[in-house]
Amino acid sequence: MVNEKIQAAEENLIHVYNRFPVALDHGEGMYVYDTEGKEYLDFAAGFAVTGLGYDNKELNEALKAQIDKLYHTSNLYYHESCGEAARELNRVSGMDRVFFTNSGGEANEGALKAARRYAYTKGTGRYEFIAMENSFHGRSFGAVSVTGHDSYREPFEPLVPGVKFAKFNDLDSVKALITDKTCAIIMEPLQGEGGINLATQEFMEGIRAICDENDILMICDEVQCGMGRTGSMFAWQGFGVKPDILTMAKAIGNGIPVGAFAMTEEVARYSLKPGDHGATYGGNPLACTAVKTVLGIFEREKIVEHVNEVAPYLTKRLDELVEELDCVTERKGKGLMQGIVITKPLAEVNKKAIEEGLLVIQAQGNVIRFVPPLIVEKKHIDEMIEKMKRVLA
Ligand SMILES: *Cc1c(COP(=O)(O)O)cnc(C)c1O
Repeated sequence: MVNEKIQAAEENLIHVYNRFPVALDHGEGMYVYDTEGKEYLDFAAGFAVTGLGYDNKELNEALKAQIDKLYHTSNLYYHESCGEAARELNRVSGMDRVFFTNSGGEANEGALKAARRYAYTKGTGRYEFIAMENSFHGRSFGAVSVTGHDSYREPFEPLVPGVKFAKFNDLDSVKALITDKTCAIIMEPLQGEGGINLATQEFMEGIRAICDENDILMICDEVQCGMGRTGSMFAWQGFGVKPDILTMAKAIGNGIPVGAFAMTEEVARYSLKPGDHGATYGGNPLACTAVKTVLGIFEREKIVEHVNEVAPYLTKRLDELVEELDCVTERKGKGLMQGIVITKPLAEVNKKAIEEGLLVIQAQGNVIRFVPPLIVEKKHIDEMIEKMKRVLA
């Protein structure tokens, strides 16, 4: 439970988060502990952020060492961590040029600007964006303008003009929205917030083809589904369909606030120029040390291979839940980004999960989302399933 002191101090915040009645204190591996020492098995990873779990000594040491040396410079000066993080991120993401932001929303914000800038340089007069229903791209104005849920957008209208929404996995609905003003199509290869909806191979290929035929840019938002979560370093690689602009955040810094948007050389040639964009904190030495170190650990510890080893087991055990429990109607997703559709109220499930010492999150469509740290082992999956069975009983 949350003590009175914590509760009272909380009154100083703008109330936009509905918190669970838990005050977390520290973490280790797959587990986090509250202020009273209660243990929670973490299948939420702070919203798919802590891919390497908690208290990774190598990452901690690298961050501490960087803090002691220098953690802010502004982008007026070189710092070797910035270029190194960029080189490594480009190497694993298949992109050529990257810009570091502080969050996922800001990465999408930059991607949208980059697409408009590309059209501006080319003088095509294109400015419209096509986004997907049930998408989630963040809370800032541009990002929320392409987010496919009325509830996120309506209170803040009017938003960025020129945005249209197509049905996810329905190519005809995308084609119907294309005009000679279409600038870019933005989509998540695996929708997270919107209910764990995986793009079909046909849809990904179809979007790529539409973009190629019309000089439209394809933006993939991999803020949540990137960084190994679906069994390839980035989800686009699993489809073999490469976007023109890729956005990333969440797991790339394992919790140190850092995001990025990246583009191909071809896009970069026409897109953002000196003075067009910036971020005071973006790509600071601490954030870049996090990215560089996280990527090093991913490679050395073969995290993506590990995901492919354990994910089929998660799939199998979740399928069993669908079989065994009447209140579980469907399993969705891929790799270590999965969900189950349930018929019970999510609030009740969340409350019981907390009592059982299990952290899960929800998604649209009455979905319980499982996005554990990528270091999860079969024994943790078994433990989670046992807890879920009690929660859903
Ligand atoms: C979380 C998320 C964002 C927003 O990231 P923030 O860091 O919260 O701004 C954008 N896109 C997707 C797909 C996300 O899951």
